[in-house]
Amino acid sequence: MIVKCNKCKEEINKEDLEKNYYICPLCGKLNRMPAKNRLQMLTEKFDVMFNDQEFTDPIDFPSYKEKYESAREKSGETEGVVCGRGTIGGNDTCIFIMEPNFMMGSMGTVVGDRITALFEYKEQTSGYRIYSFRWCKNAGGRTVTYADGKGFSSSQKTQ
Ligand SMILES: [Zn+2]
Repeated sequence: MIVKCNKCKEEINKEDLEKNYYICPLCGKLNRMPAKNRLQMLTEKFDVMFNDQEFTDPIDFPSYKEKYESAREKSGETEGVVCGRGTIGGNDTCIFIMEPNFMMGSMGTVVGDRITALFEYKEQTSGYRIYSFRWCKNAGGRTVTYADGKGFSSSQKTQ
């Protein structure tokens, strides 16, 4: 499969881009790395958790449902974050990684719910040497996050 570099717009074999950690071999630009690829690079094993929350649009944002469904199709993910438990260097680790191909990993209510659930899980199992780890690169919160406040409460509660 052929993809285009986000910077130089040259065509690159997708497999070559993946082998080069999403760095363009022609111009050196770090292209967007899907969450699942980053997890494969980072962990020995990984199990997705809290993947069953349903779409919500508490402020009835214009065209939000259509954008949401388009993002799901484009990214292959169900939201802007992937949460779960895996191992890094043999250590049990709770991980959340923003999905850049899902609205640039922006934060809606489901993202807040998932991250909150992951930190609550981590707290409940802290006796088992579980670490939390996050990898964020996103464009910021969606309007619904501010209306709901979950994006803020989840991070404030755990820091
Ligand atoms: Zn390039």
